[in-house]
Amino acid sequence: MCIGAPRGPLCKEHRHQLARTLHELRLSMYELKDAADRKVRLGRRGGGARPAFAPTPMDLSAADLYDQVEDIIQDVAGDIGLWGGRAPQVLRKLTARIGRLYDAPNSGRDYRELADALRRVGERVSAPGERVVYGRCLNPMCKTVLSGPPDGLAATCPECGSTWTVKALTEARVDTLRGQTITCTPKAAGQWLEWKTGKRVTRNRVDMWLRRGRLPSAQRTDGPGRWTFDTGELLECLGA
Ligand SMILES: [Zn+2]
Ligand SMILES: [Zn+2]
Repeated sequence: MCIGAPRGPLCKEHRHQLARTLHELRLSMYELKDAADRKVRLGRRGGGARPAFAPTPMDLSAADLYDQVEDIIQDVAGDIGLWGGRAPQVLRKLTARIGRLYDAPNSGRDYRELADALRRVGERVSAPGERVVYGRCLNPMCKTVLSGPPDGLAATCPECGSTWTVKALTEARVDTLRGQTITCTPKAAGQWLEWKTGKRVTRNRVDMWLRRGRLPSAQRTDGPGRWTFDTGELLECLGA
């Protein structure tokens, strides 16, 4: 395999992959910069005094990760004699001189480092709101929580490596939640659903399901506006 070889040039397939990696790295570094700057602004607005705006360790590392990846990009550029510059400029130059990168003595190592950097940046810039929980890995020995984009079709478990369709994962989840109940207001039921699925659910929507009989097991309980909901039915209403 060419990228495992001690010295360059890259094969056709890995040239193609390298070009794509550089392209995606350019885009995701902009996003990461944005995320890092946003956290700094939030931190300043709070003056550091209000805990709600205090930067969490996660926020800080958006900036740290940006610096680390910028170092990696600069190192790779150094391999073809490009020195200095901020990440966006260096990435532009690398893209323009990609032919030299293909043939560089360390091309295999450069490739692996850029791919690894892209993976780390990608993990950071997909905001929690852009990922939803599909359910637990269906491997009974594993049961790791699997998540992905809202429109995902399949998920590969990072622990055991098995791949499941999102449909199978969500159906299994509805099954395990069927018969379980929560007692709360329709508004809180919507919030519970949003927490479970990442999809926004208003109180009005839950009220509408109640009126249309889509929650056949739901029952009014003591306390104003409180109901006992079947959690499986709630998820089914959402098509989750
Ligand atoms: Zn190759
Ligand atoms: Zn698994």
